[in-house]
Amino acid sequence: MYSLIVPIYNEEDNIPVLYDRLKAVMDQLGSTELVLINDGSGDRSLEMIRALHGQDKRVCYLSFARNFGHQVAVTAGLNFARGQAVIILDADLQDPPELVPQLVERWREGYSVVYAQRVKRRQESWFKRLTAYGFYRLLQRLADVKIPADTGDFCLMDRQVVDLLNAMPERNRYIRGLRAWVGFPQTGVKFERDPRHAGEVKYTFRKSLRLAINSLVSFSIVPLRLATYLGLLAALLAMAMMVLVLYWRLFQTNSPLDGFATVVIANLFFGAVQLICIGILGEYIGRIYDEVKGRPLYTLAEVAGFEQLP
Ligand code: UDP
Ligand code: MG
Repeated sequence: MYSLIVPIYNEEDNIPVLYDRLKAVMDQLGSTELVLINDGSGDRSLEMIRALHGQDKRVCYLSFARNFGHQVAVTAGLNFARGQAVIILDADLQDPPELVPQLVERWREGYSVVYAQRVKRRQESWFKRLTAYGFYRLLQRLADVKIPADTGDFCLMDRQVVDLLNAMPERNRYIRGLRAWVGFPQTGVKFERDPRHAGEVKYTFRKSLRLAINSLVSFSIVPLRLATYLGLLAALLAMAMMVLVLYWRLFQTNSPLDGFATVVIANLFFGAVQLICIGILGEYIGRIYDEVKGRPLYTLAEVAGFEQLP
């Protein structure tokens, strides 16, 4: 049995087309459940999901009590999915459902994770493309696991991998990273990312930035070392200055470094460096705090369709 997981946040204009295209794929695959996660939508998404469940018993759904974000929605889907192979895709049809059979084919060849890799993003802004490009390269350099570049959450995972992900207690869930972390044979299938079918992008710049910082902090401790390196650099600078100042005092009549401006600039500079380092520390400490609180990842208002097998 296969599971298709689709997180949904205000996607009323996409749901009908999404279902039509997924239905074709489900008919082709055979025994499949479609797990829809309503991430606190404020539009008619939930009503439409209920209606789909009413007309097609393969459709199961979860509904959050509020918006918890994309990664949490996917995590909930993984918690509830029952398939031997689980496929995650976006609701806006940027991840073409027609690619799913190809993912399944690779899985049948023996791969535990088959991720879809974007070779092209159609009609996305240059800003998004540039920041995404830079970010994935930075992450590859810093992260302690190899996270393939230009992959999103669109992928197929074997039951074994899903069980491992479900057993991970951490609350900061960067699925792409965790997926790479578990290991096992993994491979990619290349595809061209379509533009959004309808509606607005739900990942605002702020949410994207959060996700980027999250992934860096979750998968690398290199930023913590930044303080050490900067500290060493500052110490070197200070020593060089000391030598210079001594030299000027002993061998020159008036030192070129006398002046209030120099002192102010040096002060501001080191103040800034220290604050940045404290900020980085704070990112890690904040996350520790988050983990320690141990609150549930999400709250469910409604669950339906998981009683019987499709
Ligand atoms: N999404 C969600 N919760 C959120 C934001 C987004 O469940 O808080 C879903 C959204 O409905 C879509 C997917 O996550 O199915 C990806 O969102 P979007 O297309 O806006 O992001 P992008 O394509 O830029 O990654
Ligand atoms: Mg999208």
